[in-house]
Amino acid sequence: MNNTFKIAVFEGDGIGPEITAPTIALLNQLAADSAGYALEFVTVPAGAAHYAKTGESLPAESLRVAEQADAILLSAMGLPDVRYPDGTEISPQIELRIAFNLFAGVRPVRVRPGQAGPLTLPEGREIDFVLVRESTEGLFYSMGQGEVTETEARETLRITREVSEHLFRFSFDLARERKQSGRGQGRVTCVDKANVFRAFAFFRGIFDEVAQDYPDLTADHAYVDATALWMVQKPWDFDVLVTENMFGDILSDLGAGLMGGLGLAPSADIGLKQAVFQPCHGSAPDIAGQGAANPHAMILSAAMMLDWLGIKHEHDAMCADAARLRRAVEDVIARGDCLTRDLGGTASTEDAADAVRRVLEQARAE
Ligand code: ATP
Repeated sequence: MNNTFKIAVFEGDGIGPEITAPTIALLNQLAADSAGYALEFVTVPAGAAHYAKTGESLPAESLRVAEQADAILLSAMGLPDVRYPDGTEISPQIELRIAFNLFAGVRPVRVRPGQAGPLTLPEGREIDFVLVRESTEGLFYSMGQGEVTETEARETLRITREVSEHLFRFSFDLARERKQSGRGQGRVTCVDKANVFRAFAFFRGIFDEVAQDYPDLTADHAYVDATALWMVQKPWDFDVLVTENMFGDILSDLGAGLMGGLGLAPSADIGLKQAVFQPCHGSAPDIAGQGAANPHAMILSAAMMLDWLGIKHEHDAMCADAARLRRAVEDVIARGDCLTRDLGGTASTEDAADAVRRVLEQARAE
């Protein structure tokens, strides 16, 4: 059994390096304590600052290292003042999605009972659902290539059978894992607009076909507009939601809002071979260099990486460490006495990460 996993690390721009360093320290600590596996980190350059220096945003060598790594950990890339000659921003993270065919954008939304947030949850209720956003086609298919004339503009939405089948299988497998671990009811909801667009009726039809292979799970549908309403009115009802790229883009920010902000929202972009784990937020250049960034979305993304590696390689110690790390962050947030500025506190990035380290140490000692 392979016990050493190579992780390609993109530190990125802005607050990227500030949130990457404490995250890697926590991962190293978990691996050292577990003795069941080892992590080898390889830092590779890419991003807006690298482009400004060298004229290359995603060097071929960085792509090669990422392709051959067991997993990819990425903080945030892009700076508003550094752009390609056509005016668009530097986004190697989107190039990675396309290069490695990372069709499943996984966005967990979690708020524990009693945790402060924009919604007051009814007694005993918690939010724990996962939004799976298709990430390679949909309305992003014609990104940068839409037709614009003096009088009209057109963009093309593309939904393919092949990608949709992979996406739905991934979503049902995820719902099954969640059910087995006691975290979900075993339900997948296809979020679409099948009442208006033929492309979404096609999407829904494929979903229903794939659902036949999962008789132990519940499959249902919801329109995207109603889903936005229910995410605010009864978010505790959802388990796994799966949707098209643009709908997922919008709903995942609503999900981040439910948790209290971007600083708490982790994500993963998963394909058949590679996977990238990164916080939902950008490089936050407005607070870079101040030591004020919230590291939790990055740490939670790293926990998702451990879980994905653990499941893929049938390595229980990694899955257990993933759960430990996630719970430690949740404990720090729920306690509320060491919060960064974005959450209304005064803690620095280092203080917030150190609080997670102390919870992990305490849990180990008990
Ligand atoms: P992108 O387009 O790359 O996603 P963006 O322009 O939408 O980026 P972000 O970089 O995510 O925006 O920043 C949006 C706001 O949220 C900024 O005010 C930023 O300071 C804040 N923010 C983002 N991430 C964090 C974080 N980890 N900690 C604290 N504040 C954050």
